[in-house]
Amino acid sequence: MTEKIQRIAAKLKNTYGEQRPKWPEDPLDVLVLTVLSQATSDANRDRAFQSFKRAFPTYDRVMAASDEEVARSIASGGLAPQKAPRIKAIVARLEEERGDHSLGFLASMDDEAAMNYLQSLPGIGPKSAACIMLFAFGRPIFPVDTHIHRVVSRLKLVTDNSTPEKTQAKLQPLVLPELVYDFHLNLIEHGRQICRAQRPRCGDCCLMGDCPVNRDGAFGSS
Ligand code: SF4
Repeated sequence: MTEKIQRIAAKLKNTYGEQRPKWPEDPLDVLVLTVLSQATSDANRDRAFQSFKRAFPTYDRVMAASDEEVARSIASGGLAPQKAPRIKAIVARLEEERGDHSLGFLASMDDEAAMNYLQSLPGIGPKSAACIMLFAFGRPIFPVDTHIHRVVSRLKLVTDNSTPEKTQAKLQPLVLPELVYDFHLNLIEHGRQICRAQRPRCGDCCLMGDCPVNRDGAFGSS
């Protein structure tokens, strides 16, 4: 299966190129961005993050603010009444446990310990934790979102794909560390552009030859 994944990763890279999005340098900013990305578009996430940083240039200011003030600053990202208390609770926990507002200590932990710590924070599940590990610390942990779950399921790359969490756990040991970053981002791009949830564009797909769903003719040749 690793070989098939390498082949698919190469085809996607050939199609979408190298992915180098710009992420904040501070791992806690990456965490906030990850919380803001839940159930919204990248554009709304980025707008909410910029507004949040304008309102709260430091995490001391977040601690001094009410949940409502934080929620107002991230309103453009959606679900602000749920996301604001989560962000505040995470900052408060770091302050209480570590005496500062930094996730830097995770850099000295191994992957499993760091993932476990991140998932103990409110609102941080396996996908968000993996995103923080990948984008803030450069660790080769493979996050699986709904796009990736859908594409990988159609390609039948994992045996148990009943949930994105199970797909993530099954896929992690199969993806070579050096492929994780581009493969993750290119699969998302492929899911958005071609292997869409409704009416996937199989006729335009660079993975047609690797796709059992396409061979079954499930989606015709749109
Ligand atoms: S052939 Fe169709 S179902 Fe298979 S990966 Fe491509 S777009 Fe998705």
